[in-house]
Amino acid sequence: MSKPRLDGKVALITGAASGIGEEAARLFAENGASVVIADVQDELGNKVVESIGGDRVSYCHCDVRDEKQVEETVKFTVEKYGKLDVLFSNAGIIGPLNGILEFDLNAFDTTMATNVRGAAATIKHAARAMVAGNIMGSIICTASVASLLGGAGPHAYTVSKHALVGLVRAACGELGAHGIRVNCISPFGVATPLSCEAYNLQPSEVEANCCAAANLKGIALKAMHVAETALFLASDESAYISGQNLAVDGGLAVVNRRFSA
Ligand code: NAD
Repeated sequence: MSKPRLDGKVALITGAASGIGEEAARLFAENGASVVIADVQDELGNKVVESIGGDRVSYCHCDVRDEKQVEETVKFTVEKYGKLDVLFSNAGIIGPLNGILEFDLNAFDTTMATNVRGAAATIKHAARAMVAGNIMGSIICTASVASLLGGAGPHAYTVSKHALVGLVRAACGELGAHGIRVNCISPFGVATPLSCEAYNLQPSEVEANCCAAANLKGIALKAMHVAETALFLASDESAYISGQNLAVDGGLAVVNRRFSA
């Protein structure tokens, strides 16, 4: 029998009480990892831990906007499981949907504080733990198809996800010297609380809208597809892949149907 793909690895996943992060926590644990679920939704996070079961999964309260909490969460992970091999920096918010003519700059700051500053703090402290432990780790961030295109999300969200790609490339350039890989994943729309609440739609309605707009037909993008991509980037199967922004978008960002036959 082949070894589980994350056998013996320790992973920290932010924003793992819900949606994509929750699916990743389940998948990473199934594949042999010890997992710390970090989030601000304590009740939900603890429920995810309970439903996975066993002592290889724990919850830690962490608001990624607060660097001290991020530092403590990394410390908790290393003290509990001995090291840190994988960071999945996935916590994110979509922010308000208003356009540039009504741009809310306070809301912009909040979006940037979570999606960019929070990711930077998490990468900083996770990378410190990896370097200190001499771990050839893997850092993965959840960006979005809005990191590749304008008009695929609200403006502040689009700015934040473009910035996240810059952060990933900058960190990749520095951390390669330590054998640490840094990548991001850019999904198209997935029916999660983030998308359903932002657009005030049921999951089936979000999926129907995404399927109608999608390039790849006959399949709806699920949180599990994104989690499977994170699993690949976390595992040794992607041992020489770094600095990439891997689109999980069915080709949406590379085609423009207006000009096709
Ligand atoms: P979700 O709302 O189900 O999950 C996001 C999680 O992040 C929640 O559990 C939330 O509590 C947590 N979170 C929010 N702010 C936080 C903070 N300050 N500190 C710690 N945790 C915090 O949504 P999701 O769709 O699973 O989102 C996960 C990631 O995927 C986000 O970065 C999002 O931008 C990205 N994404 C989502 C979609 C989509 O269509 N759902 C598409 C592309 C990218």
